[in-house]
Amino acid sequence: MSRVVVVGAGLGGLAAAARLARLRHEVTVVERSNAVGGKAGSFGRDAFRFDTGPSLITLPATIRDLFRKTGKPVESVLELRPLDQLAHYRFADGTTLDVPNTGVNDVATAFQDAFGGRAGEQWRRFYERAERTWDVVRTPFVESALEGPAPLLRLAASRPRDAALVAPWRTLRRLGERSFDDPRLRVWLDRYATYSGSDPRKSPSVLSVVPYVEHAFGGWEVVGGVRRLVDAMYERAVDRGARVRTGAEAVAVTTAAGRVNGVRLADGTVLPVDIVVSDVDATVLYSQLLDPPRPDAVRRVRRATPSSSGFVLLLGIRGRTPQLRRHTVLFGDDPDAEFDAIFGADARPPVRPTVYISATADDAPPDCEAWFVLVNAPRHGSGRGTIDWNAPGLADRYADEVLAVMADRGVDVRDRLAFREIGTPADLETATGSPGGAIYGTSSNGWRAATLRPANRSPVPGLFLVGGSAHPGGGIPLVLMSATLVAEMIGRA
Ligand SMILES: Cc1cc2nc3c(=O)[nH]c(=O)nc-3n(C[C@H](O)[C@H](O)[C@H](O)COP(=O)(O)OP(=O)(O)OC[C@H]3O[C@@H](n4cnc5c(N)ncnc54)[C@H](O)[C@@H]3O)c2cc1C
Repeated sequence: MSRVVVVGAGLGGLAAAARLARLRHEVTVVERSNAVGGKAGSFGRDAFRFDTGPSLITLPATIRDLFRKTGKPVESVLELRPLDQLAHYRFADGTTLDVPNTGVNDVATAFQDAFGGRAGEQWRRFYERAERTWDVVRTPFVESALEGPAPLLRLAASRPRDAALVAPWRTLRRLGERSFDDPRLRVWLDRYATYSGSDPRKSPSVLSVVPYVEHAFGGWEVVGGVRRLVDAMYERAVDRGARVRTGAEAVAVTTAAGRVNGVRLADGTVLPVDIVVSDVDATVLYSQLLDPPRPDAVRRVRRATPSSSGFVLLLGIRGRTPQLRRHTVLFGDDPDAEFDAIFGADARPPVRPTVYISATADDAPPDCEAWFVLVNAPRHGSGRGTIDWNAPGLADRYADEVLAVMADRGVDVRDRLAFREIGTPADLETATGSPGGAIYGTSSNGWRAATLRPANRSPVPGLFLVGGSAHPGGGIPLVLMSATLVAEMIGRA
């Protein structure tokens, strides 16, 4: 039995704790804040309840696998429900697209009906290509540890046609241009880069697997909100024997004779360890916590670019909306200007941006609704590519602008507001310790992004990484996969 300390009780940390406790290790989780869940946070005001992080569940198999492998199946603790509809999209020219959650044929029909021309047929061809891409990358690049470019080079040598599908130098934007005549379809595809906090003009076309996964395995929700998933994961880890300490900030991961030997907490306590699993952002781990530091790891982690952040509004809404949709995307006026604002050196709050809304009446008082609104935004900071979200008046002004943009696009809730709560990238940084409030850890910008993303096994023996800033990346499914990989690497006690 090894003494394992998991630093951070985000979804990656909790999943790793449950799996390692199941493998009979002695597991302690230390979490700096007073609640578990990290970016999968929640907020309540009056009788309104909000998930402040994820709302869309994709690849539910990753959740099912976690619960099955750590004891009882997910159905015994949680209800995962397929969405009635994947999303309702509105484009800048007023076109609307309702994407069903009932399989490829219906989706192709929806694209054809919305855009005409060859849209349905082109969408289907795109989907089939993305399916082949998923078959190629799933095992060697997503579900396996990736510790450099070797798997890609092997693929190029042995199966060049498959390697061409992966071609990391082809961008998602370029794939959209090649796949779709209609510019609105390209805008639709571009959006999937932002699912990993990335710029479609810089991220590789392999991200086409993101819409593939969404359409092939469906969009899901957790009945009662994602906070139920957090609770269930916490309970599973504790049931398996893990100890979870909240209000316990790690200030150092110490090493002796080259391997980890302890975790020092802010109150001065030192927890002796055989193994540390870090769910903290990899940049923070290598540049602030690891003691003594490893300059090679710091240099390497700084080469990966952080993901974008998000500006959030939590809206308590009076009255009921006819035909309320769970997920709505209102596309912005000028996608490229928006990506420049988010990812460019001269970062600024995007003007007339794309707005994502997740709305429900289930978490609100009678005759009311709870809306989560997200706009992709540059990270908080004072350097290049960031902005100071704490600048006086900025957050309020930007919240007004987002509500006005929604109104212009036919979703005016301004006179129905019971309240609005604002969450800026600066708030996300404070709440979760994610530098600048980066939502997904590292982005997929650049053709080497996947190989620059920090590996799950660190160069320091006994130190492992889970969570969005490590391989295979951010978002619930990938974060849960990172925990699976690390549990497999560590093995049984
Ligand atoms: C607004 C928003 C919307 C999102 N939407 C979706 C979505 O629809 N679908 C989806 O799949 N994903 C979505 N995501 C992404 C998803 O929430 C994250 O990828 C995932 O929750 C990250 O988990 P993690 O394991 O990386 O840990 P994190 O959530 O980053 O948690 C890390 C934990 O470590 C703790 N910590 C940090 N430093 C220390 C320290 N020194 N000592 C102790 N503890 C420490 C933090 O307090 C935190 O609890 C969204 C995220 C956000 C913010």
